[in-house]
Formats: sequence, C-alpha cells, structure tokens
Amino acid sequence: MHLDARELKVYLQSQGLRVEASVQARLGGAGPSEGITLFFEEKVATVPVQAPFAVKSPWVLEEEDGSFFLSRNGKFLCWAELPQTPRYYQEKTAQGIEMYKIAVRHGRDALGSTVWQACHHSPRCSFCAIDESLRRGLTILEKDPRQLEEVARLAKAEGFQHAVLTTGTPADADCGIGRLRDCALAMKNQGLPVHVQFEPPEDMESLEALSGVVDTVGIHIETFDQRVRERMAPGKCSRSLEDYVRAWSRAVEIFGPGRVSSFIIAGMGEDDQSILHGVKLLFSLGVFPFLLPLRPIPGTPLGDSFPPSPGRMLKLYEETARLREAEGFEENVQMAGCVRCGACSAVTDFAS
Ligand code: SF4
Repeated sequence: MHLDARELKVYLQSQGLRVEASVQARLGGAGPSEGITLFFEEKVATVPVQAPFAVKSPWVLEEEDGSFFLSRNGKFLCWAELPQTPRYYQEKTAQGIEMYKIAVRHGRDALGSTVWQACHHSPRCSFCAIDESLRRGLTILEKDPRQLEEVARLAKAEGFQHAVLTTGTPADADCGIGRLRDCALAMKNQGLPVHVQFEPPEDMESLEALSGVVDTVGIHIETFDQRVRERMAPGKCSRSLEDYVRAWSRAVEIFGPGRVSSFIIAGMGEDDQSILHGVKLLFSLGVFPFLLPLRPIPGTPLGDSFPPSPGRMLKLYEETARLREAEGFEENVQMAGCVRCGACSAVTDFAS
C-alpha cells in the first residue's frame, strides 16, 4: 500500500499509532486531545495513541539512535519528529503556578489554553474530556489574563506564533465570551494573533466585544444530524441550528469570511450526506468547516469507540475540497486557531 503524506495522516488519525518509543502522550483537555503530535514529510498531525484501537494499530512509531520513524509490518515508511518540550514549561508564573498548567503547545506553534476548565452542561458532551486534565492535576480551573500574558511573553520569545483559547460553557448569557475576551487581549498584547471558541451566545451583542481583539473565532456545532446531536451533546441542544446560523452569520459580518470556523466531527453515527450538507451550508455562509474524525478519549462515554475508517475520511475530505472550489471559498485566511494549526484534521491538507 503506497500512501502519500496526507493519506498517511488520515490513516494515522483513523487507526491510531502504536508507540514503541519513549514519548509522553497528552491525555485530557477540551476538544480532540488524546494523543501525540507528530511531524512527518511537512505534515503535522495529532495522532491517537492511548485508546484501545490505537494500541492495536498496524502503524508503529519506532526509535533508533534518538531518531523516530513510522513503520508498518516491520517496513520503514518515513522519518518523524516529535515536538521539543517548550522551555517555558520549566517556568512558573508570578503567583507560583507552573506555566504548563496555564497553556500548552498545540500542533507546531500554537499556544492553547482552556480558560475555564469546567462546563455547566449536564450530561457532558460524549466526545469531551474537559475535566480530565484538571482531575489529573495538569491544569487549574480558571486562568486569568495576567497568567496568560506571562506565558504568552515567554512562548512568543521561543517561537510560538498564535494562540487558541477555548472554554467550557458557563451558565452566563455570554457563554464565557467576556472571559475569553480579557484573556485574548492579554495574549494579543504580547504579539500573538488569537483564536477563541465558544457556543452561540443568547445575546449576539456579546460577539461585538471580541471585535478588534481576536482574529478568528470557532463556533462548533460538531454535527448536523439532529438525532446525533441530541444523543452526543444534549446540553448543547438548547441552541438550535438556527441559533448557530445566526451566530455564524453575525461573526462573519464582524470578522470577515474565512475567519469563522466550525468543527464537524465525523464518526458519531451520522451519514455522509448530513456532513456534506453541513459543509456546503458553512461554505455558503463564509464559515470554514473544520471536518475531523472522532477522537475517542479513554475515560469519556465514547472512550471505547472507533474513529471513522480512513476510506470514509478520504472521501469526505476530497468532497469537501470539491465543494470548497465550487463555492469559490477564499483560500485559508485564518490567522490563528485550528484551521491555521491543522494538526487534528486533514481538511486543509486536501484543500491546498
Ligand atoms: S487543530 Fe486545534 S485542537 Fe488540534 S492541536 Fe491544533 S489548535 Fe489544538
């Protein structure tokens, strides 16, 4: 089987990676978090390594004389690199908190933080592990702007290029946008473009508060299949598709086409038609569909599930690229965030 680099990325994200090398996986956090980050053949990919399916994967990460490589059935495929541990991880904030508990490396050069490591939704979304890193003592509940400013200063000095801030959803009407704004401003003042992610707020005016502060926003619906939404993210169902469309449209007016994105997670029981219908809708609104495979995280309700097959993901990525061209969607103008990072999805690898 010969795969090019982007196809290999798709296979690794669907089938996981068996690690026969001494690397430490990041486990927990909001969003698609379980796994390691790998660089190979100019690609960056977060790859599952701890879920039961990954432990049995045909793809293997091996180490020889301090260098890493990918193999399958004992055959060498390509060299791979793992990111260096950032130097700022050794430092503490003025309040004495380890800086790795405030923000961590995402992908190649993004600084990621969950500014409020909790969520008022009950039950939680089945795909989310927001409590996990807090439970394991790897982070703190709430980050404040001063802490993020201190971390951003050191991270920028060692080459980090952009910041990704997300939040669990508080019960407030602004869905945490005020806190995200203050944190984003602190990082922006250190010269990092900033991306923030939140649920559609009840009061659309709260989006205005982000204008001139953040560069891009993510408002993530995750699935366009209403039955799957109700099963996987019952708390978020208090917001309808119409609420999302209103929030996306207003965000595009404020930030511009291509600077708003939404996760679409494949593999939760939906069919391809619902995904591609959503992709088309998002392109027509000026929103980038950040399509990615389900990342089953051990300890979550979907921890024993499997991601969608690589064949299915390849078709979905190819069709998304075709729809993007048909809609005349602008090339990637995202200045910060998951679309710029691209580690958790191959959608931008197929679009370029
Ligand atoms: S794609 Fe987004 S969630 Fe994934 S590593 Fe990059 S910034 Fe983090």
